[in-house]
Amino acid sequence: MKAAVFREYSKDPTKVVKIEDVDVPKIKPTEVLIKVESASYNYNDLWAIWGEPIKIPIPHISGSDVAGTIAEVGSDIRKLKVGDRVVSHSNLSCRVCYQCTSGREYDCDNRLVWGFQTGPLWGGFAQYTQLPEVNVVKIANNVSFDDAAAVSMVGMTSWHMLVGRTKIKPGQLVLIMGGSSGVGMVGIQIAKLYNCTVISTAGNKEKMDKCLSVGADFAVNHREPDWNKKVREICKSLGKSGVDIVFEHIGKSVFPQEVQLLNYGGSLVSTGATTGYDSTLDLRHLFFKGINLLGATQGTRAELEDVMMWVSKGKIKPVIDTILPFSEMVKGHVMMAEAQKFGKILTTPQKL
Ligand SMILES: [Zn+2]
Repeated sequence: MKAAVFREYSKDPTKVVKIEDVDVPKIKPTEVLIKVESASYNYNDLWAIWGEPIKIPIPHISGSDVAGTIAEVGSDIRKLKVGDRVVSHSNLSCRVCYQCTSGREYDCDNRLVWGFQTGPLWGGFAQYTQLPEVNVVKIANNVSFDDAAAVSMVGMTSWHMLVGRTKIKPGQLVLIMGGSSGVGMVGIQIAKLYNCTVISTAGNKEKMDKCLSVGADFAVNHREPDWNKKVREICKSLGKSGVDIVFEHIGKSVFPQEVQLLNYGGSLVSTGATTGYDSTLDLRHLFFKGINLLGATQGTRAELEDVMMWVSKGKIKPVIDTILPFSEMVKGHVMMAEAQKFGKILTTPQKL
C-alpha cells in the first residue's frame, strides 16, 4: 500500500515526508483494518515531523483523523463488519484504569494519541490502517468520508468542551473565542444547536465574516485593544451584564478579560493557549462571582458518536478548506504550518 512516511525529524516536512510502498498492516483479534478514503491534518502531525516537543517512533506515519470502510475484522470483533463506513476516534485508552472506568478515557493512565504517539508506521496518512474496535465509530450513509474526517477531532473536542464540561443550556449567551478556527467553527454550531445566542471573536474581518456565516449572531475582532468592551456592549444590548460561557483556546492575551466578562455562575472552558499559558487571574472574580474555570482535552467515543449523529442531521456542518491528492499530501503540512486556512485540510489516500 501507499503511505506518507518520514524516517527522520525535520523542521521542513517537504524534505522528509515521502509517499512510499509499505506492507498493509496485520490486525490483532480486537482490531479492524480500515481502507482510508479521507484523512485530515492536525497540528500534532507537525510536532511529530519536527520531533518536538516529544520524539515519536520512527519511521512514522502521521494522521489522527480518518474516514473509510472496514476492509477486514479481527476474530474478536463484535459490532463492526466488512464494508461498514466508519470514522476514527484517535484517543487510544486502556478501558481498564480508574480514569477510563470513571468515564474519563481522555485522562487514561496509558493514553496515546493514535497517529502521533503510535508507531513505527501506525497512522492515518496511508491507504490502510488498523484500529481497535472501540476506536472506530460508524457513520451514516449520508455523511461523506471527507465530512467525517474533517469533523471528527474538532467536533468531539468542541462537544466535550460545551456539552461535557460547561453543561451548556438552551438560551445561554455564549462567547466563542477564535471562532474561525477548527474547534471554533464547530463550537458556534453546537451553541446554535442549543438555541444559544453566540458572540464570536476572530482576528480579522474576513475571519469574523466566516464566524457569522456558520451561525454566530455577533462577531468582534479580538486583536483590537477594546475587544472586551465591544463584547460587553453586545451583552448590555441583550439585557445581560456578561456572558454565561466562554469557549477559550487563545490563552494569555485574552484570558483576564474573558474572566471579567463572565456572568455570576458562568463557566470558562479552555482547550489551549496559543498566545501563552502564564496568564494572571483576579481571584475576586473567581469567588465573588462563583465562576467555573474548566479544562478540556479531546473527548469520549460517545461524544464523537453524538457529533456524527448531528452531522448526519445537517445540524453540524464540517468546514473544509482544501482536499489534496495523496501524491501532494505534504502540501497540507506546509499549509498547517503557515495557518493559511479556514477549516480542515484533507487528503485522499486512495486517489493519488
Ligand atoms: Zn485507561
